[in-house]
Amino acid sequence: MTRAAAGENCYDVVIVGAGVSGCAIARELSRYHMSACVLEAEEDVCCGTSKANSAIVHAGFDAATGTLMARLNVEGSNLMGTLCEELSVDYERIGSLVVCTDEAERDGLEALLARGRANGVTDLRIVERDELRALEPNVSEAAVAALWAPTGAIVNPFQLTLALAETAAVNGVEFRFLSPVSGVTRVPDGLWELATAAGPVHARVVVNAAGVHADELHNLVCAPDDRLEVAPRRGQYHVLDVTAGAHVRHTVFALPTRLGKGVLVTPTTGGNLLVGPTAEDIDDKLGVDTTADGLAEVVHKAALTVRGVPFSERIRTFAGLRAHQPGHDFVIGEVPGAPGFVDCAAIESPGLSVAPAIGRMVAGIVCELLGGPAEKDGLLPRPGPVPDVARLGPEEWSALVAQRPAYGRVVCRCRTVTEGQVEDAIRRPLGARSLDGVKRRVEAGMGRCQGGFCSPRVAQILARELGVDLRTVTLAGPGSELAAGRVKDAWAAAAGEVAR
Ligand SMILES: Cc1cc2nc3c(=O)[nH]c(=O)nc-3n(C[C@H](O)[C@H](O)[C@H](O)COP(=O)(O)OP(=O)(O)OC[C@H]3O[C@@H](n4cnc5c(N)ncnc54)[C@H](O)[C@@H]3O)c2cc1C
Repeated sequence: MTRAAAGENCYDVVIVGAGVSGCAIARELSRYHMSACVLEAEEDVCCGTSKANSAIVHAGFDAATGTLMARLNVEGSNLMGTLCEELSVDYERIGSLVVCTDEAERDGLEALLARGRANGVTDLRIVERDELRALEPNVSEAAVAALWAPTGAIVNPFQLTLALAETAAVNGVEFRFLSPVSGVTRVPDGLWELATAAGPVHARVVVNAAGVHADELHNLVCAPDDRLEVAPRRGQYHVLDVTAGAHVRHTVFALPTRLGKGVLVTPTTGGNLLVGPTAEDIDDKLGVDTTADGLAEVVHKAALTVRGVPFSERIRTFAGLRAHQPGHDFVIGEVPGAPGFVDCAAIESPGLSVAPAIGRMVAGIVCELLGGPAEKDGLLPRPGPVPDVARLGPEEWSALVAQRPAYGRVVCRCRTVTEGQVEDAIRRPLGARSLDGVKRRVEAGMGRCQGGFCSPRVAQILARELGVDLRTVTLAGPGSELAAGRVKDAWAAAAGEVAR
């Protein structure tokens, strides 16, 4: 079915949610001749849990053997390196260590090793105290052994989600932002009708990739005895400056507990040190605030596995929400009794790691439901990545400046990001529309001063590029405007009040 034949607001498939899951699915579906649209509540790609996590590509030893989570984790981990290379996404296979600090816990380590092997993770082994110290000099004095997983990796989650989305967009998938889906009903002709503020959108197949809100959409279409419960499980973090990034060489986990993988200490692909997360069951699906208690807990727990974490180098804290369901497994597939409504729900950790596998799996389900659409000749590549001047040598940078002088005007001093890069972030397919959008794409504002110096300049560039009034530029979409008005106008109004 083409869009023209079916009407402007009718698609073969609509994906709800532009997180890493929705974007991975969109990219896979863009390989086929079909009309597809992504409806996203927020103003940009990667605004939900996909922007607030540990950014680890888990090797796959953690999930219970035989679960969908375990299978997709190993598959995703195996696919991730090649995918990131293809998409020019920062990815480093640095390996991970699960540290045991008490001989009495060694059974837990052995169990993890056995589970990892049963899940199909390769090259796993236990390293003893001396080898562990050589691998990770700052490991806790109390460490007695660790599970070494060389296939563990780190990835840039913003770049990954954006690259998947951009590729999908370049290959014909439409993205509509600020489009929360508020209702789902079955209508004649085998279609689903999705209610949005801009009017109804129709689809033959709906993919529910709505993160912590996926249960709400599922429960609109399911049988009464098939309701889904997705509860937000919050994780809080400290981000340390790049000066602390080399404190550990690998991702260092504590042995997992009933509540999750425990606090980890890891370098990021951007060179920072990330320490967290907590695991708190909360009620609020918007509850991404941090708390003094949560952050203190992270400091305390980090010291159990890594010594001397330099928290004085902290530049930011944040929290993300895991989409936890009681069965602790992903819920992927057509909802019974709701033909053409496909869940990609309860994608909690390791949801980032599994994204390549989820993309393939859900696209397969959708294609089958659509009767096997014809495949295109291949995917058109997205435009090349924005040049990263901070990683260029002086000669390469000069050559770039000669091409476009804007690459010579540094806007963000902490991360060395230039006006040219900010312009590129805005001009790309699905380009940035807010300060945070620019930050996710080119890291302006991600450094030590956290945008203190560059935000006004980035806002000016946004206003100029988008052709809007500076006062309408936002941090992260409507309601987060940077300016309330002109100071002179406020003074004039106040003076008028006084005169009256
Ligand atoms: C603390 C923490 C640490 C983690 N660490 C890791 C890790 O190291 N490695 C790993 O592999 N995984 C990790 N994860 C898990 C991983 O981040 C998630 O599984 C993954 O990002 C989920 O992606 P998603 O696309 O399913 O959901 P999201 O990224 O949340 O995207 C869902 C999107 O749907 C949109 N949406 C919701 N409702 C509607 C609606 N009604 N209409 C339109 N749009 C809607 C939202 O705005 C959002 O953009 C972690 C998660 C947390 C919270």
